[in-house]
Amino acid sequence: MDALDLTEQQLEKCIGKNIRITARRIMKAKYPSPVIGFKFADVDKDHISAARDYARLMHPREEKFCTDGDLNHAMGNVFAVNTHKTILKHDGQALHQREANTIDISRAIGDDIIDVSTISINESIDYPIDDKPNSNTSTFLNDAMLNIEQIKCNTSSTVTEKDIACALILLKKRHRLSARCMDDIISLLRTLSVKNVPSSWYKLKKILTGTISSPAPSFICPECEGISKSNVTCSQCSNRFNVMSKPNSFLSSSIKNQIERILRYNRDVFSNNVSLAASMKDICDGAVYQKLQAETQDPFITLTLNADGIQPHPSSVQTIWPILLVIDEIPLKRRFDIENIILAGVWPGPKKPTRIEMSLFLRPLIDELLNLERGEHFDFHDQDNNAVTARVFLIGACCDKPAQVLLQFLSEPTAAFGCGRCEVKGFMVKTAKDGNVRSFATTRADLMEIERRSNMRFDVLLDIKLLHDQLRQSLLGRIDKSLMMQHKIEEKGITGPCIFRELSYFDVGNGFMADSLHNVYIGAFKRMLSLWLDHQYRFEDWSISTHLHRLQSIFRALRLPSTTCRFPRSLISYSKFKANEMRVLLLFGHVIFKNVLKKKYYDHLIKLVVMMHLCESRKVHHSYINIINRLGRSFVIDFPTLYSKRHCVQVVHSIIHISDTVRDFGPLQSFSTFQFENELGLLMRTNKSTRRHAQEMINNLHMIQEAHYHLHNLSTFNIDFSSYLSSRFINRYSIRDQQKGQARHPSKNPDELVRVFFPHSKVNFYQTLHIGKLRLCTRSYATNKIADDSNIIFLLDGIEYSSRIRAIFTLDNDEPYLLVAYLRDLNPLTYAINVNENVAYPNILYTSTSKWNFTPIEVNDFIEKSAFFRSTAGISYFLRFPTLEHCS
Ligand SMILES: [Zn+2]
Ligand SMILES: [Zn+2]
Repeated sequence: MDALDLTEQQLEKCIGKNIRITARRIMKAKYPSPVIGFKFADVDKDHISAARDYARLMHPREEKFCTDGDLNHAMGNVFAVNTHKTILKHDGQALHQREANTIDISRAIGDDIIDVSTISINESIDYPIDDKPNSNTSTFLNDAMLNIEQIKCNTSSTVTEKDIACALILLKKRHRLSARCMDDIISLLRTLSVKNVPSSWYKLKKILTGTISSPAPSFICPECEGISKSNVTCSQCSNRFNVMSKPNSFLSSSIKNQIERILRYNRDVFSNNVSLAASMKDICDGAVYQKLQAETQDPFITLTLNADGIQPHPSSVQTIWPILLVIDEIPLKRRFDIENIILAGVWPGPKKPTRIEMSLFLRPLIDELLNLERGEHFDFHDQDNNAVTARVFLIGACCDKPAQVLLQFLSEPTAAFGCGRCEVKGFMVKTAKDGNVRSFATTRADLMEIERRSNMRFDVLLDIKLLHDQLRQSLLGRIDKSLMMQHKIEEKGITGPCIFRELSYFDVGNGFMADSLHNVYIGAFKRMLSLWLDHQYRFEDWSISTHLHRLQSIFRALRLPSTTCRFPRSLISYSKFKANEMRVLLLFGHVIFKNVLKKKYYDHLIKLVVMMHLCESRKVHHSYINIINRLGRSFVIDFPTLYSKRHCVQVVHSIIHISDTVRDFGPLQSFSTFQFENELGLLMRTNKSTRRHAQEMINNLHMIQEAHYHLHNLSTFNIDFSSYLSSRFINRYSIRDQQKGQARHPSKNPDELVRVFFPHSKVNFYQTLHIGKLRLCTRSYATNKIADDSNIIFLLDGIEYSSRIRAIFTLDNDEPYLLVAYLRDLNPLTYAINVNENVAYPNILYTSTSKWNFTPIEVNDFIEKSAFFRSTAGISYFLRFPTLEHCS
């Protein structure tokens, strides 16, 4: 063994399931990164025989069946993969040379059938005859069964009533089960005499929420417009409330306790490192946070707020308004998890609150925030980190427009000064049906003049507004119409004091973040889609409504990974598309409109596409801000020229403000209402009762949170049971804890090309590969399935390639490999920022060639999944996801 010069531990790590694997691993340990061109023939003969000896020593039973030649073949594979990869490395460096050395199967177009005769490599092709039955195919199943048995024996005695209550809540949440279903499950478990099952659903709820205080109700006095704690007489003005018409009420809860509880499970938030990165990944890299960090010495955390009206049922006329907050310092992966959501209050409806009611409803929160800004003692209950005094700042609010104007105390979004970010004045335009619509069409020159909303402008305008109010009062209504109009223009849409103005780090202009969901996906883009496809515009220059059916079938050719949160329905129902479907259509599906839309409309669309790709990048480089800004401006300025002033409505105008939001708060997905709506949806979906929606929602939140906290609390929870629950019920994306792949779904169809690459090995083929929770599959496996996990980006020698997985295989039952097909000379999408400036966007690549090249790669070379589209004109597109959550 000395000849190998490996330590005892190194050698032990090499011991595999069979003798071939062990031999192979020794080779790999000995030659971890062979230089380009290194072959098995170059390996020191002493090393080879020492490796054989050690492998035989470790596998005495297999020893007699294995010749030196067998083991040499096994070891040779280590370098075979290297040799084939070498070809690609050369290609990466000199793309046009060495054509002869690559395996180029020109007949292999699309989901090809390989013709071996076209393959030209310098190896003799022979197939080893190996008819030994494979004893290792079912190891995966065996492992799984072993795991289950382990859990069973470890947990039999110590699962408590609360543990079971938590498990049932997680089950309910995951499958959206009704309370009656829960009752049935409980009764079933009790009939089966499972120990410690709560006696009923009611009892289960009590176990989880018994110690949590319910939010306090407050009543709005119609007489003094103050907040009363009593619902009989006003605690402010002693007015007795009318028994017949109950005063409006709301529920509010302290956020301090909730923050404290969340911090207990997220101890990593106080790492106040000044970020100097060249690119922005999160809110903490944005300008607002950076300013706060520069000016504040004490530890602090920041919050983002969301307020939105939601319907308890799709058919409901009632709306309830929860106020949600998240802590920006919690890593994005966990930030919007339900256990980390803060509920500051609920307006129970049935009607939408007025601006004044909204201010009263927010009053307890703002008062508490004013205290928290000065610094508050947070108790951690931890041995070495007992407490920390931290300041808490609300720095942004992300809402849809109707909610935003309530919070901002501004006129309606469709009013003359309806933009929450600037003082643009809309004007009325006639519609085809003799109606009127407010247009916000602006020229480049207009945009230079328009004031942006800010704290400073707000103070000035509010003073003007109050002065006008006084004047009107003194004139006792004898004010003429033209003066009223004049006042309105001077007030620029301000209708009263915005309560957020009291906070120290909230800007009542820029603090209201431009939201991608409402402004872009179901805003401007939805408008464009209906202009193109709606029958009523069929005579317009931009209309493509006659192509709808053709587009729908082309759209089906867009191949998206299974991690896509919502697969778009048929394009025919585009008008019913949800924001997620719109997002997929804009970011990836835009390719279907090429050569269908007239060039000027398509080029205009591409500006929005690239802009949104950049805004949602996992890393927004500071230089992107300028590009986003120019794309946004040019998109908005050109809109009325292309689609007429009549269609340049508020949401189209709002595109212009997105670049400022990205500058201030980083990439859009770190605060978008997408995230909040997911959580709200979750809370409402579990809500089945017909009355008391607000209370029901709060209870649901409390139960789910308590279940999660209990799960985290390993001191009181059975650890095996808790890890079983976490892996079973808590689905988180991007869990790539291990890079080791696991091949599944054995395939009976051998891939001829793999056989050619590895003629001496025992090759097993599979259809899927799992890396942690991530799934990849072969092209043929994905055929006729909606989701397609066969399009991947892989890295080789520092160069990224887009490719499709052709085969998944193992050599001698060792770790899996991928055989990928890739195209060379891909062109990046280019777009025009202005008439003479074209820019390339490298995350959308295309080519008209169909000369696929093939290479085996290791699992470690895999980077992420991507989307793929082949147009009817034979152009292949590889589209990379801007955010990581849908592709990794
Ligand atoms: Zn009162
Ligand atoms: Zn504006």
